[in-house]
Amino acid sequence: MHHILIVEDEKIVATDIRYMLKKIDMTSTDIAKSANDAFEKIEAKRPDLILMDINLSGDIDGVHAAGIIQKKYRIPVMYLTAYADEKTVERAKHTEPVGYLLKPFNEIELKTNIEIALYKQKINEKLKKQELWLSSTLTKIGTGIIKTDEKSAIILMNNVAERFAGTTLENAEGKLISEIFAFLDIKKQQILPRSLLEEKPSNVFLQNSAGWSFPVALTLQKIEDESESGYVYFLQDLSEKLGAEKKIRSTEQLLKRTFESLQDAILIMDHSFTIIDSNTAAQNLFGISKIRLPYKRVQDLFKDNPGSLKIFSEVLSHKAFLRRHEIALYDRKNELFFAEITVAPLVDENGENTGWVCAVTDIRERKIYESMLKEAKEDAESANRAKSEFLTNMSHELRTPLNSIIGMTELTLETQLTRDQREYLEIVRQSSLSFLQLLNTILDFSKIETGKIELEQTDFDLRKTIHDTIDVMKVQAIKKGISMSHEIGNDVPNGVNGDPLRLQQILVNLIGNAIKFTDEGYVRCSIDVQKKDNETVTLVFSVEDTGIGIPADKTSIIFESFKQVDGSTTRKYGGTGLGLAISKRLVELMGGAIWVESRKRRGSRFVFTAEFFMCDQSQFEKDEDSLNARKEILPMELSVLVAEDDPSTQKMIRQALENRGSTVVCAQDGRTVLELLLRTPFDILLLDTEIPVIDGYEIAREIRSMREKPAVSKMPIIAITTNARKEDLEKCLKTGMNGHIPKPVQINELVNMIKSLIKTENDRSQVGEFYPVQAEFGQVKGKSVFCERKELLASLQAMGRAITEKDFFMLEKESESLLHYAREHKMDSLADEAFRMKLAARKITMKRAREIMVRLKKAAVIS
Ligand code: ADP
Repeated sequence: MHHILIVEDEKIVATDIRYMLKKIDMTSTDIAKSANDAFEKIEAKRPDLILMDINLSGDIDGVHAAGIIQKKYRIPVMYLTAYADEKTVERAKHTEPVGYLLKPFNEIELKTNIEIALYKQKINEKLKKQELWLSSTLTKIGTGIIKTDEKSAIILMNNVAERFAGTTLENAEGKLISEIFAFLDIKKQQILPRSLLEEKPSNVFLQNSAGWSFPVALTLQKIEDESESGYVYFLQDLSEKLGAEKKIRSTEQLLKRTFESLQDAILIMDHSFTIIDSNTAAQNLFGISKIRLPYKRVQDLFKDNPGSLKIFSEVLSHKAFLRRHEIALYDRKNELFFAEITVAPLVDENGENTGWVCAVTDIRERKIYESMLKEAKEDAESANRAKSEFLTNMSHELRTPLNSIIGMTELTLETQLTRDQREYLEIVRQSSLSFLQLLNTILDFSKIETGKIELEQTDFDLRKTIHDTIDVMKVQAIKKGISMSHEIGNDVPNGVNGDPLRLQQILVNLIGNAIKFTDEGYVRCSIDVQKKDNETVTLVFSVEDTGIGIPADKTSIIFESFKQVDGSTTRKYGGTGLGLAISKRLVELMGGAIWVESRKRRGSRFVFTAEFFMCDQSQFEKDEDSLNARKEILPMELSVLVAEDDPSTQKMIRQALENRGSTVVCAQDGRTVLELLLRTPFDILLLDTEIPVIDGYEIAREIRSMREKPAVSKMPIIAITTNARKEDLEKCLKTGMNGHIPKPVQINELVNMIKSLIKTENDRSQVGEFYPVQAEFGQVKGKSVFCERKELLASLQAMGRAITEKDFFMLEKESESLLHYAREHKMDSLADEAFRMKLAARKITMKRAREIMVRLKKAAVIS
């Protein structure tokens, strides 16, 4: 049932129409008297058709109202006209009415007109939908579509074609297609005529009026029907497709070339292990021909080689990889050879196993080399064993007669002999002893070479072992006029479990070298704990000298057997070049490491670590050593001025004297010493003869000449000298000093000397006032704030100097003492920077050292 709205201002006419409609079974009707009334009724209930009085009275007449309805509601309107002027009729046309009904009309006319109108409306709607669908399809299709008339003038272009043209339909409409597009032959780049294009779809180059061109697939269709004729061009962009195809082709070619150029034979197989492809190397190796593929199962290559076949079966059953597996295969000449094969499954994009790829490497040559190498190695090893055994046997054999020679010589020396005879025999004894030592070294070396050296594991008195070794070595040092000292850390256990003789051997070798390569100065040993628990203890041993040093590029080779810094070493100092190699091996057997820090002409420091088992300490008496039982005590509290620029010596003296209740002030250079003495008298002066600015001898002379200040001029002066020679002492005494202590300073020796110089309380009171030092520098007992800062400053200055002179050895030493100092005084940031500086010095990185220096200075101020 259709709903109809009658818009009529004359009530009688409207009612009449309604009546007629009822008669023709159209009962659903509404009447509107004016345009606005009509709009309201349309909003309330959408009618299917509106019968509109063309001459409607009111502000909005029928035509105007129909126009609004058409635009806003798209409801069909049929005009009711009795009389209408031409102008109104003309206006009415533009509102696209579905018909005109001329008043008066009867029911039949009304019915027919309404039915036609509704039918027309239905058709219109359908057409509109189709049109919409067509235009959206044309827009979305992705193919460029151009329609032209018979003369090739453009009628229509979809958005894709507009993009190809580089212009809009609006601009192109009516223009000839040749003005917008040229279609060129892909190879020859010549313009193709339409007649050619019509023949069949083809790939061409499209060039547009904007000048750019790209490949398209073109289909040209002629339309010829009763209603119209012309052409339709369908264009599909090929640039992406062609680009992708090209890429695939080049990848394929690359793969192919790689496949063919591989040295390994490659076999591609399907799941049943039938070879479906192979590369040239495979064809050459197995004598298979590519032309006849597929032709062989891979098993055929193994012939009657069941072992190899088994491997393949395994791969097959586990669908697994087989990596670099050695198997025997037959080659084209039917010769069995060794190959290394790798088999991997081939999978498609769904992860399905489609076959296998197998790479075969012919390793027969490698096998020959391997067996030759093995033979050569075995030969070399057996020759080496024979050599070492010969050495061991020979050394053993030689030792027996040599011992007799030494023994007999010693016995003969005890008999009555002339002076000459004694002298000659003494030479024989000495030479025999050296010979014996040499034999022992060779014996050790050969034992190491054959891996026969084994460490003993026994509880032993560690401190005693160290003291005994050092005592023996000291004799050699004294003979050479160089001083020797040692320090054992308090936490070093008295007894440990390990090999005492081998430990002694390492120490003797290192200390022996230190003495051998040092002409003046000192040798200093120290032993400290690196780490300790209930089970084990790792000790760090250090042997430092002031000798000839080792150039940086030689510091690692000297640990190799028969290696010396240079050939002349043997001539001048003797030696075999085996000592360090043996020591290194022994240290390694003790679970440690050995290394050296050295600078040419500045001395060396050999360090090694060794691990020992802890043992019951009660079996070893506490060796109180120089520090405790034999600790020399000062009879009174003294004020001591220490004139010493070496921070570690300075620190050691300060510590020792402060521990004995004295007050210590340190000065870094000669000028400061004199300045301090002019301001403050001290009980005693410890004076380094080589102190910078004004040397020790000069200072001593100066002091002794200050007659107007007897407290100063008469004060005891102890020289601290680098050398222990007699002439050094004489020189010191000559300048008015009272005694001399060689470096490294032995505390007991120093304390004894101080005691001998300051005898009694009475003597002391004669010297004068004693406590201005405390008053002036605000000292806390045993600790001077002033001198600590001064010491710090001096240390920083020394580091600065070391950087300027690029003296990394010195820099490291200075950083080390500063680090101790900072840790001791809980100056954490300073300690951190000092540690970094130590590392920088060790790694010899100047830039970093300079950066750290800046930070160190800051940290020192803050601390
Ligand atoms: P040897 O001393 O018998 O030649 P070593 O293996 O003990 O054999 O030492 C190897 C070389 O290392 C020495 O020849 C010497 O050149 C160098 N060397 C070892 N210790 C020192 C040292 N303290 N100072 C300088 N050079 C040293």
